[in-house]
Amino acid sequence: MNAIEPFIRDINDFPKPGIVFKDLTPLLNNPEATKVCLHQLLTLVGDQPIDKVVGMEARGFFFGLLIAQALDAGFIPVRKPGKLPHETISETYALEYGSDILEMHKDAIKPGDRVLIHDDVLATGGTAEAVCKLVERLGGVIVQCNFIMQLGFLNGKERLEPHTVSSVLTY
Ligand code: AMP
Repeated sequence: MNAIEPFIRDINDFPKPGIVFKDLTPLLNNPEATKVCLHQLLTLVGDQPIDKVVGMEARGFFFGLLIAQALDAGFIPVRKPGKLPHETISETYALEYGSDILEMHKDAIKPGDRVLIHDDVLATGGTAEAVCKLVERLGGVIVQCNFIMQLGFLNGKERLEPHTVSSVLTY
């Protein structure tokens, strides 16, 4: 068993019936487990040079900034509409019911920047796909889409092709 697995808590029927929510808070509450998780995420990146780490609101912020610091890269928050104060670009993506929008600052990425995209969980891949589009619209080169967990049965990895998808845990 991976050393961080005991710190991921399954919450049944959250936020709605039928969903098994992967709760990261026991991991965040344990400094040793947090260090191990960061180390494993960095191992996924290896020695590939990274200019920018993009993290998705909100659970992509926790490790996104830690990864960026460790790689000596900048951190870029991707946020829900209306939260970023400067000029933004946005992508609309489909949800099970309806759609949602994600935004990024227009000046966050320069053409040719080597970008690592990070979030806690890859499920259907809709969120990460929208973030890939934002990065590529600004001319960023996606080096890896990096997650703590991927829910393999939802096939998010295929949706993100041809980008490289890596995760510490796969369920
Ligand atoms: P998706 O766009 O379907 O890949 O969903 C990914 C986003 O939803 C991520 O930002 C996750 O934080 C969140 N998410 C989706 N499914 C779960 C789950 N079972 N447990 C925790 N977070 C989830």
